[in-house]
Amino acid sequence: MPHAMTVDVEDYFQVGAFEKVISPRDWDIMPARVEKNTRRLMEIFAEKEIKATFFCLGWVAERFPSLVRQIVEEGHELASHGTMHQRASAQTRDEFKNDVGDAKRLLEDVSGKAVIGYRAPSFSFNKENLWVYDVLAEEGYKYSSSVYPVVHDHYGIPDAPRSRYATEAGIEEIPLSTLNMFGKNLPISGGGYFRLYPYGVTRWSLNKFEKNESFPYIFYMHPWEVDPDQPRVEGASATSKFRHYLNLSKVEGRLKSLLCDFQWGSMAEVYGYA
Ligand SMILES: [Zn+2]
Repeated sequence: MPHAMTVDVEDYFQVGAFEKVISPRDWDIMPARVEKNTRRLMEIFAEKEIKATFFCLGWVAERFPSLVRQIVEEGHELASHGTMHQRASAQTRDEFKNDVGDAKRLLEDVSGKAVIGYRAPSFSFNKENLWVYDVLAEEGYKYSSSVYPVVHDHYGIPDAPRSRYATEAGIEEIPLSTLNMFGKNLPISGGGYFRLYPYGVTRWSLNKFEKNESFPYIFYMHPWEVDPDQPRVEGASATSKFRHYLNLSKVEGRLKSLLCDFQWGSMAEVYGYA
């Protein structure tokens, strides 16, 4: 069974870890690296003929339309990561509606393709903001991949279902992948954990997941994770810097191993939206 390969397309200065030291007003003066890094990921996927889902910021689509067009021209699925990378949990309903609506329109205008998938920045759906699904339905989305059913200091709905489920609004939520062990859900979907642990841990977890579950696994990463030479952001906390810069030089090699050892497709392919 193929698993879902996903990329959250944002630049190194737009991440939640640096939101307290870099304001969106400063984004335009930062040296952008998202184009080059996303193209590098597409090269790596092309070597293995893998199609992925790119959850792209509207902000990126506005500034780098040719990158967004290349994503669809190479046969990948284009999906939405919102416009300005604001946590859903920090927005009013109107702010969230504008953010996800603008992103969908920007991405569709630039690509000429319908956008049906959404991933919230920092997995920021929780039990207090379940109205987000009504808004996604109003704006014409079909699925979301925004819930991480784990205990974490910044995100997660620990007791959410671990596989795809329908919400009352009609949007399907496809949660990030976990391994259920010792009565706990362990996060195994990639991101920082992929950089923290040796590759063998990822491979072991995915093998175990395949044995235990009958639904596809989801891997997620970011373009800045294959860019060890990115400018260092000053002023962030030691924890934020540790999480962001850890093992960046190892990601490309680990990703190639991951692409070889398992079968991959886009969310649309794997979950039948194509
Ligand atoms: Zn993000």
